[in-house]
Amino acid sequence: MSEPLRVGVTGGIGSGKSAVTQRLQSLDIEVVDADIVAREVVETGSPALQKIALHFGDDILSEDGSLNRAALRRVVFTDPRERLWLENLTHPLIGESIAKQLAAATSPYVVLSSPLLLEGSQRDFVQHIVVVDVPESVQVARTTTRDNNNEELVRAIMAAQMPRDSRLASADTVIDNSGALEALDEQIASLHKKLLSLSAAG
Ligand code: ADP
Repeated sequence: MSEPLRVGVTGGIGSGKSAVTQRLQSLDIEVVDADIVAREVVETGSPALQKIALHFGDDILSEDGSLNRAALRRVVFTDPRERLWLENLTHPLIGESIAKQLAAATSPYVVLSSPLLLEGSQRDFVQHIVVVDVPESVQVARTTTRDNNNEELVRAIMAAQMPRDSRLASADTVIDNSGALEALDEQIASLHKKLLSLSAAG
């Protein structure tokens, strides 16, 4: 049997990536979530976390020995060199784990869900790019509701992400998630059909 088609799903914060991948999972499609992988490579006791603690000091750890993400964020967002150091450590590990999981997939196609799919080398993992798209006002409204964040923080995160039009320019398929969830369901049904036939065509 040929390898499953590898499909990337991306979109800005609050666009509905999780809403899309949950629906694909319920159709028995395997989903690799880059956010989960990024947390796994620095889990408590991991060699990467030990290196991080050696480099930044034990203040970067919580009392239970897990990574104190807020503390780490404060350091790397104020010092680009430290951010680079951290990325040089974690990105290869994240890439390795993603590659392994994609290679082990047995569903007709496999999904890599990542907010950073188009920003680095992760796009090389996939053969078809699905962009989940909503207007920025909808991103802000849904994210503030979901995370109980203020609008300012959400807009700061959005400003650090790829602009909407560049993202759309990279899409092989666009899912318009500006409407109700019923409208999303319909688009997922036709996306699934399309990806199944693309995968079957090899
Ligand atoms: P992402 O994973 O891209 O950050 P989510 O899938 O978590 O985005 O969606 C953001 C929030 O908006 C979630 O609370 C989700 O339940 C909600 N949501 C997603 N799609 C819709 C929709 N079509 N209508 C209403 N709410 C939605």
